[in-house]
Amino acid sequence: MIKLGAHMKISKGFKKVPEDTVNIGGNTFQIFTHSPRTWNMKQPSEREVDEFKLNMNKFNIDFEDVLVHSSYLINLASPKDDIWEKSINTMVEEIKATDKLGIFYYNFHPGSHLGMGEEFGIEKIIEALDIIFKELVHTKVTVLLENVAKKGGNIGYSMEQLGAIINASEFKNRLGITFDTCHGFDSNYDIRNKEGVLKLFDDIEKNVGLEKLKMIHLNDSKYDLGAGKDRHEFIGKGYIGTKGFANFLSFDEVCKLPLLLETPGDDEEHAEDIKVVKEILKNIGKL
Ligand code: MN
Ligand code: MN
Ligand code: ZN
Repeated sequence: MIKLGAHMKISKGFKKVPEDTVNIGGNTFQIFTHSPRTWNMKQPSEREVDEFKLNMNKFNIDFEDVLVHSSYLINLASPKDDIWEKSINTMVEEIKATDKLGIFYYNFHPGSHLGMGEEFGIEKIIEALDIIFKELVHTKVTVLLENVAKKGGNIGYSMEQLGAIINASEFKNRLGITFDTCHGFDSNYDIRNKEGVLKLFDDIEKNVGLEKLKMIHLNDSKYDLGAGKDRHEFIGKGYIGTKGFANFLSFDEVCKLPLLLETPGDDEEHAEDIKVVKEILKNIGKL
């Protein structure tokens, strides 16, 4: 079965998300645990958790297919001690909330070294993750590093960098990766053709292990291959295009994973994108 959905708002509470998801034609989703532009968050109450879980079952959504995305302020590579510590603390709280909600996966951008160099940034991230997992020995949430676009000192634009972090972690078995198609395209992973996808798989296998790839962020790109701009586009309207996605989704390694849209707009636009993806899947015999 294809698992397909989008990033959903939590403004009407966690409990509304499963129903909203079904209404846009999805069967999985991604959410934040709180406003992504703030450090502070409060844990969901027992009641919020119960109502959410009830609706997950009512609307037939699998907890394993759902993803929590970290907030935007978190930077585990920050050279500023106060930001680095706040990032660790907020991430611990967000992962605790993920666990409370019964969700299995939590996704974050590895971080930005802000000019201090990649080696510095990678060391900070490894150190931060060790601290975070030591605080979270009783949760079983898997933490996914997302590949990002190469800009602004970002770490994690190549599988080699994601692998350098994961393989050096004391908690390697708690870590995995999300592949974002727009960010990957920004980093020259040309998923529009077969050779490009095979090269991507090779790169993942060599550096991380293909079994660690758990989620797909399905985004088209407003800019051409290798641009490094990180501008998401509606599916089929960008440089990856309908044919490009038809190629990418024809691989079982891809279409067996949850496919999560982070394309522009809201529920209405996402419903349209879901239709486009389903049409592509039908055309290649996957739906
Ligand atoms: Mn992201
Ligand atoms: Mn993404
Ligand atoms: Zn992006």
